[in-house]
Amino acid sequence: MILLDGKKTSADIKEEIALEVAELKAQDKTAPHLAAIIVGNDGASLTYVNAKVKACERVGFESTLIRLPEETTEEDLLNEIAVLNVDNDINGFIVQLPLPNHIDEQKVLMAIDPEKDVDGFHPMNVGKLALNLPTFISATPFGILELLERYNIETSGKNVVVIGRSHIVGSPMSILLAQKRKVGNATVTLTHSRTKDLESITKQADIIVAALGIPEFLKGEMVKDGVVIIDVGITRLADPSKKNGFRLVGDVDFNGVKEKVSHITPVPGGVGPMTIAMLLKNTLLAYYRQES
Ligand code: NAD
Repeated sequence: MILLDGKKTSADIKEEIALEVAELKAQDKTAPHLAAIIVGNDGASLTYVNAKVKACERVGFESTLIRLPEETTEEDLLNEIAVLNVDNDINGFIVQLPLPNHIDEQKVLMAIDPEKDVDGFHPMNVGKLALNLPTFISATPFGILELLERYNIETSGKNVVVIGRSHIVGSPMSILLAQKRKVGNATVTLTHSRTKDLESITKQADIIVAALGIPEFLKGEMVKDGVVIIDVGITRLADPSKKNGFRLVGDVDFNGVKEKVSHITPVPGGVGPMTIAMLLKNTLLAYYRQES
């Protein structure tokens, strides 16, 4: 069993980006600049957004964090976005999700200039992704492609089963892996909550991407020998033995599958750490596009 080490791989990617930024600065060029808007005080969201800002600093990017109160109106948020859209100093920006219930998430995502939409959530970028045109691939599927590539995992002609059809993970993952691209050319089955007899499908899989959000859902008896498993799930389960009171659990029963898998991402330390690295990569891409 080989662990697909997202922690190490993401550190490598950040190191590569930092070198590139240092080179830009040596040529007296400005550094890429990522901004993030967060509305409200949700603890997990604040942790994520702070981690993104910190990662920017570590690679030498400029970063701006815009914190807005919970009661911010949709109109005020749209105004903030309009300002960032035309600010030439900002190469890319994200609006941290989820948003408070009184704000229409789709409306907000659609207001972001697609050229600065480094999360890749704007319908124009999702459409480009579906057509295999150059775009910002959203960070989680992008991170999974990168992990598969860096560990030389062959996807061409393989049977891939994706579990979960969310807009941010399962759906784009299934599209990307079926496309004619370096990490792609797979025969993909997208499964979801209405899929019948999932086990008979997962048992045929050479590669499984589990993104359903049910802790330890994928069991040993559901997979074949030699399978590659990408565990996207992150659920916080209460654990009084831990300092912070919880532990992170994936969608895969790690101990149940470990004797059968050829490669697997651990949770934590697999897909999770890749997400921020790929956001930085998209910001660098936005920077180069705007420079040229
Ligand atoms: P979601 O919660 O939006 O949707 C879950 C999907 O799973 C749905 O499409 C549903 O049809 C499917 N599903 C539910 N029960 C099922 C079943 N019994 N059999 C088959 N399919 C079933 O999904 P999401 O936002 O992609 O999140 C999934 C998990 O991935 C969560 O644990 C989330 O925290 C995690 N996640 C991790 C990262 C990361 O960076 N590692 C990023 C995004 C999401």
